[in-house]
Amino acid sequence: MTKIRVYQLAKKLGMSSKELMTKLHELDVNIESHMNTLEDEVVDLLTELINEEKDSKGKNNSNSKKSNVKDKREEMQTEKNIIHIGKKITVKDLADKIKVNPTQLISQLIALGVMAAINQEIDFDTASIVASEYGYEVKSIQVEEEENEKIEEDLLDFEDDPETLQPRPPIVTVMGHVDHGKTSLLDAIRKTNVTAREAGGITQHIGASTVIVNDKKIVFLDTPGHEAFTSMRARGAQVTDIAVLVVAADDGVMPQTVEAINHAKAANVPIIVAVNKIDKYEANPERVKQELAEHGLLPEEWGGDTIFVPVSALKKQGIDELLEMILLVAEMQELKANPNRKAMGTIIEAKLDKGRGPVATVIVQKGTLNVGDAVIAGTAHGRIRAMIDDKGKRIKKATPSMPVEILGLSEVPDAGEHLYVVENDKKAREIAENRKEKLRTEQLKATQKVSLDALFEQI
Ligand code: GDP
Ligand code: MG
Repeated sequence: MTKIRVYQLAKKLGMSSKELMTKLHELDVNIESHMNTLEDEVVDLLTELINEEKDSKGKNNSNSKKSNVKDKREEMQTEKNIIHIGKKITVKDLADKIKVNPTQLISQLIALGVMAAINQEIDFDTASIVASEYGYEVKSIQVEEEENEKIEEDLLDFEDDPETLQPRPPIVTVMGHVDHGKTSLLDAIRKTNVTAREAGGITQHIGASTVIVNDKKIVFLDTPGHEAFTSMRARGAQVTDIAVLVVAADDGVMPQTVEAINHAKAANVPIIVAVNKIDKYEANPERVKQELAEHGLLPEEWGGDTIFVPVSALKKQGIDELLEMILLVAEMQELKANPNRKAMGTIIEAKLDKGRGPVATVIVQKGTLNVGDAVIAGTAHGRIRAMIDDKGKRIKKATPSMPVEILGLSEVPDAGEHLYVVENDKKAREIAENRKEKLRTEQLKATQKVSLDALFEQI
């Protein structure tokens, strides 16, 4: 079970996060933000305490009209004393809002152990606490947005019970220096595979493809570009399980080879080396091994643990061996996912199609994606109208590791963006709108900063 956060518990108990925070402080529970998670014991204790309080209050209220009126009046009173602030506020602005002298506020802060000058910013929680001393209730203008963000995070972080996990196919990226044969190798892999299964079958380009080897699936990403890999990782999206490093045997280790090694290492992804173009007269696979050993990729016969497979993408040699090695490495990784939950995946490619609107290829990472699901990806949202697999077939469901093209998004999402299923269209739209709003504010801030800087330069 996931731990409950302060604001979630507050909601459950029908009180504001601030009230709950105050309660927590009274109980000497050290909580810094309403985003913090709470220990089970604390939750139990609090729930009991608050329900007790509520009970006694309820008795008083139902008994007399008078107290009802009084409550109403108090409510109206407090209604007036609500102030709204963002994540941070300067001491001066807060003083203005709660109508106290800034100097007085500063001493209050010092009493709370917070040293802040008049123009310094204090955080939301500190502001809430001091403001409450003056009878003000502070509401966050970002709570809604943060709550939505939390919902996203909870979805992403949500650890599946080990018992729910089932094996899933490996997702492989082909990397290497330009002209060393990445595209040719992918073609060779697909062709060997396609001709074996569905002679003459046309594969649809959706940015990834599935091949079947010994009844086991392997998913290959088409975008070998290091940029794609890096930009995805920059977004915290890691879809790759195994990297196939293509090195031309007639050329050896080149700058992009080294880059690829570094990316794979940084992402902690195992590397299988495909020594390509072994059909060439100038091919020197031994030299490739030596050069790669210098970069920490030691072949097994030299006591290392890196698998080297000699191949020729052109002559389609060594392809089956390479595929078998991929399966072997995948087996050691024990790749698993829970197919029985709301789906979560990553966008690997997206474009605007004239006839079909925004079209995105998603790799499903957790759960099962269904036609009709409400989804969100970046600021794009919508209901999945149709799904198409890499063979061009319309499908209704996509399980973990499957690449699928989806239709029905409101706009074109960026590659690397997480996609996930939410309860309904309304929620998806809401999150998308919140994200857009946030982007707008950030852009505004950036332009303001630029113009301010320009102003200072002139002075
Ligand atoms: P990429 O830039 O890494 O995608 O490389 P390509 O797949 O486009 O290949 C670059 C060139 O090398 C093309 O002219 C291919 O025909 C050639 N090539 C690729 N693999 C082989 C191979 O195994 N043997 C030979 N002789 N040429 C190859
Ligand atoms: Mg290429």
